[in-house]
Amino acid sequence: MRPVIIAANWKMNTTPADAGELAATIAARTEEPGVVRVICPPYICLAAVRDALAGKNVAVGAQNVHHEQGGAYTGEISASMLAGLATWVILGHSERRRDEFEDDELIGKKLARAISAGLRPILCVGEVLAEREAGRAVEVVATQLRGALVGKDVEALLNAGFVIAYEPVWAIGTGRTASSADAAAMAEAIRATLAADLGWGHNAESVPVLYGGSVTSANIGEFLAEHSIDGGLVGGASLKPDEMAGMVARAAVTAKARAAAEGKPA
Ligand code: PEP
Repeated sequence: MRPVIIAANWKMNTTPADAGELAATIAARTEEPGVVRVICPPYICLAAVRDALAGKNVAVGAQNVHHEQGGAYTGEISASMLAGLATWVILGHSERRRDEFEDDELIGKKLARAISAGLRPILCVGEVLAEREAGRAVEVVATQLRGALVGKDVEALLNAGFVIAYEPVWAIGTGRTASSADAAAMAEAIRATLAADLGWGHNAESVPVLYGGSVTSANIGEFLAEHSIDGGLVGGASLKPDEMAGMVARAAVTAKARAAAEGKPA
């Protein structure tokens, strides 16, 4: 049974002075059984969020790591530096692909570093609008997956709890979402790429695939109704406790239904 996950990407928002209080409020408002909750604040807020979430069963994630272990990389943070601060990390977000020119090979190197440091990675993939309109979305995402994952240690990725977030670029921060049917079809295509192209076989079925792109409490139900989608990577709405409460409450419904289908308690 794949977990149901709501991951908050706070992007370049909050400060060390206010992040802890926001995280604590969200934690208190989202105490639902069966949902994995993750908050990814800016690096500079990690310690405050970690302290605020102590004992609250909400994981802390970073939004990026450098691909090297250390050295002359001014302004960068390595995966090993996050020890004790974060247990998850977002990699390959489209804003970093666009603004920092991250390519699939580089993202693959970051992935390997993250796993060696014991971090649980969320690998973001997704097409731009022109690619979707040209009918190339699945091909683009498959290329991103192959570029980042080829030659990687599959067992290590699975043991790390590797997660993929399908985030169509045109849906991020725009108020536009993919249709739930298109998102579900992409989640299936992602697992098919892992299984066949990358040789993961039946292990592909155990990889959680999240949808991201203008997710809110009002629309998350459509995505969570799809069996192939295992939660959301949420940007803007994740800064609002009411929105987080609504999204996690809806995710708990799916978690409970999945547990019941397997004859397990949520
Ligand atoms: C994101 O940052 O990953 C994201 C999906 O943002 P938003 O929810 O604001 O579209």
